[in-house]
Amino acid sequence: METKDLGIYIHIPFCVRKCAYCDFLSYGVEAANEFGIKDIHRAYIESVIAELGSYVEKCNDRNIATIYIGGGTPSILDSSLMLKLFDYIKENYRVNDNAEITIECNLGTTNIEKFKAYKNAGINRLSLGLQSTDNAMLKILGRVHTYEEFLKQYEDARSVGFDNINVDLMSALPNQTVDMYVNDLTNVIALNPEHISSYSLIIEEGTHFYNNPEIINNLPSEDDAVRMYELTNEYLANAGYNRYEISNYAKNGYESRHNSSYWKLTDYIGVGLGASSYFEGVRYKVHRNLKSYISGDYHHEEVEEISNKDSMEEFMFLGLRMMEGVKCSDFKRRYGVDIESVYGEVIEKHINLGNLIKTQSHIKLSAEAIPISNQVFVDFML
Ligand code: SF4
Repeated sequence: METKDLGIYIHIPFCVRKCAYCDFLSYGVEAANEFGIKDIHRAYIESVIAELGSYVEKCNDRNIATIYIGGGTPSILDSSLMLKLFDYIKENYRVNDNAEITIECNLGTTNIEKFKAYKNAGINRLSLGLQSTDNAMLKILGRVHTYEEFLKQYEDARSVGFDNINVDLMSALPNQTVDMYVNDLTNVIALNPEHISSYSLIIEEGTHFYNNPEIINNLPSEDDAVRMYELTNEYLANAGYNRYEISNYAKNGYESRHNSSYWKLTDYIGVGLGASSYFEGVRYKVHRNLKSYISGDYHHEEVEEISNKDSMEEFMFLGLRMMEGVKCSDFKRRYGVDIESVYGEVIEKHINLGNLIKTQSHIKLSAEAIPISNQVFVDFML
């Protein structure tokens, strides 16, 4: 039987408290308590395990290449629950020996014992939310940790033997100057993590930042925001990080395999509240009602069969986010037609504008087009 690789994403929708900019599906401790569910974390993990169980048969010809526990703040859970989850996965799925297994951690919820437990469970990659190295900024963002606490816990993670760590940073923050951001970059580079992500702040509806004049009126100018974006690449390239996706940088060989599989449109199942899946040509999402999820209802909503046309568009948008670009032979293998026969005109137009580069095997964004990538992607709508 042919075996294909599969990724698993598991969503943990709990945090200590909601950060001021966050629109992810997550509940702070107080909001979670309002559900009045006894031992809510345990109950949630039991439902996750039940949902995972519903895929076992469908996925029995699949090798699990990556597992990503995201959120929310997965590290808020007691380690015994994480072990329970991993015991279930290992007993019921065929996890590759070299699978990349990541857990997102937010500082203020981890300690050395938890890191040891993660290692024992087989987790081999940590993604640490830092966002800024400036304590005043961390306060504005509503983060629950200081930079000094982050440093201590980063050291703990290293001392336990984690040798594949991502640090998340943010730019274009309220009151942030270019110098302040450069200071963040310099501090993070000095830590020497294997992977760094840096996203610009986007003010999302429904967050504390939304419509808040103190925040909106103190955002950096557009020029400064672009400058921060450019400096990210400059500083990280000088420090030996490759930009392999618009906002993601890694030392050689440490590119996130799980995230790369999203950009390459390979199959993954998303388990947990609101998690999305892309599986055998269908994209779908678990509903977002925590109470009914915990009572064992994990029905899907927003089920969408991906047509060939939609799939081609996504393949291009997502593929072009990666610096290596889209491999022409992959397009042909997937869709049975040459990329030129579908996108020849668009590709030529953007090559002439200097936005795309064609190599022997790939089509990719030029460095100059990265800040305007969305304008390029739009042209790939069919
Ligand atoms: S820790 Fe992450 S998921 Fe939780 S509230 Fe903050 S930004 Fe959102």
